[in-house]
Amino acid sequence: MPFFSHTSFADADSSYEDARYVLFGVPYDGTTSFRAGTRDGPRAIREVSYNFETYIADIGIDLAGVPMADMGDIEPYSLPGDVVAQVRTAVAQMHRDGKFPIMLGGEHSVTVGAVQALKPDCYVVCDAHLDLRTEYGNTLFNHACVTRRVAEEGVNEIFIIGARSGTKEEYAFARDLHLYSADDVRIKGIRAVIDEIIAAVDGRSLYLSIDADAIDCCLTPGLGTPEPFGITHWDVRDLVRALAPLTLSFDYVEVCPVDVGQTAAVAARIIRDFIASHWKETGSST
Ligand code: MN
Ligand code: MN
Repeated sequence: MPFFSHTSFADADSSYEDARYVLFGVPYDGTTSFRAGTRDGPRAIREVSYNFETYIADIGIDLAGVPMADMGDIEPYSLPGDVVAQVRTAVAQMHRDGKFPIMLGGEHSVTVGAVQALKPDCYVVCDAHLDLRTEYGNTLFNHACVTRRVAEEGVNEIFIIGARSGTKEEYAFARDLHLYSADDVRIKGIRAVIDEIIAAVDGRSLYLSIDADAIDCCLTPGLGTPEPFGITHWDVRDLVRALAPLTLSFDYVEVCPVDVGQTAAVAARIIRDFIASHWKETGSST
């Protein structure tokens, strides 16, 4: 056999039928407002995923034994509302089939489709930006409007972690949400924030979205809209490991691989930690 290049996420070698976790990419950056390139995020995350051991020692799980599949990428349409609909259709089908969807962005707008499909009670997002604009760039589905759209989908509790950028209007809207700024996390510590989220979620269904720019751009500069003075990759890892067992779906978006690979490497490691943490708590029950 000749050598084939790595086109799927490492260890995601189950069939769709056998898989518990189903990864897929959405290489879309159609509403990008600053630096383009998040369409290359899924490829960069998959590529670097082969850098890591299958065994995750801290969690005590070997991903080689976890049933996961990588479906490849959705071929995105041009308009953001259409891409949201594509994601909604795909995630709804996976959910009907009893799968756990894990989405690799692409820009953040894709998250809206997954939330529409799953209708979670609670939504946790790590993001430098509030993403609470009513519209931007003449579309409701701009990456700057994601959390606003989520709020309109009947989600009861929204938690924004690591924010440090938004308009005056967005900050006014955020008063009705649970907002932990990057400075709040620095002062309180991520563990206290995690404990408050878990208590507030109180067993209800939860969607978890990680916008890569939540992390300080001095640590992971491969971003479309870089912001300094952010939370750290340690904070995001702690939060993902703690919340993974409580979630019904997960995405990691906004990796724009224009750096030397740090941002995609952090994304791939955190996705692997997510799967291991979720499987450890829930794997034997199904
Ligand atoms: Mn965002
Ligand atoms: Mn952002």
